[in-house]
Amino acid sequence: MSQFPDIRRCRACSLAKVRRRVVIGRGTVPAKILVIGEAPGKSEDILGQAFVGEAGRLLDKMFRAAGIEPKDCYMTNTVLCHPSDTFAGPNREPLPEEIAACMGNVLKIADGVRPVAVILVGDYAKRFYSSIFPDAIQITHPAALLRTGGLSSPYYRKVKRILEIGAERIKEKWLQ
Ligand code: SF4
Repeated sequence: MSQFPDIRRCRACSLAKVRRRVVIGRGTVPAKILVIGEAPGKSEDILGQAFVGEAGRLLDKMFRAAGIEPKDCYMTNTVLCHPSDTFAGPNREPLPEEIAACMGNVLKIADGVRPVAVILVGDYAKRFYSSIFPDAIQITHPAALLRTGGLSSPYYRKVKRILEIGAERIKEKWLQ
């Protein structure tokens, strides 16, 4: 995607030193649904797209099972660079100051996407974006589900139900 060239050059936090590339997102802009996850992982840092690793594949399956088409979504993260302490090093969680530094970028992406609905994926997205998007659907991060069995996870049924109810709400909104 050639949009957001200024974001691709961003060096507003220390993750600029350890990333391979800024990972703006995955999908086309505008989109009906904006998805905000946690952070790009190693695969995303290499490929330059959000949610392309194992957790991303699981998220796509979860969405489809609930009646949400991934092609209707634009997927981004609370930070757009792979959080690590060394260049292309192991994943770590994003720091609050990194998430805060990236918020202007994420909101610029949200403005471009112009979604009818927002899905917040994981604790960081919920913590930092639920006051900005109070109507957002909030779900557990697929990486957490992967650690407990993926689609067989005891937590998956609850996530699926939240997504199914959310999918109905989203359809009503975009038919308005
Ligand atoms: S994480 Fe966000 S704020 Fe930090 S350098 Fe990357 S794009 Fe800029």
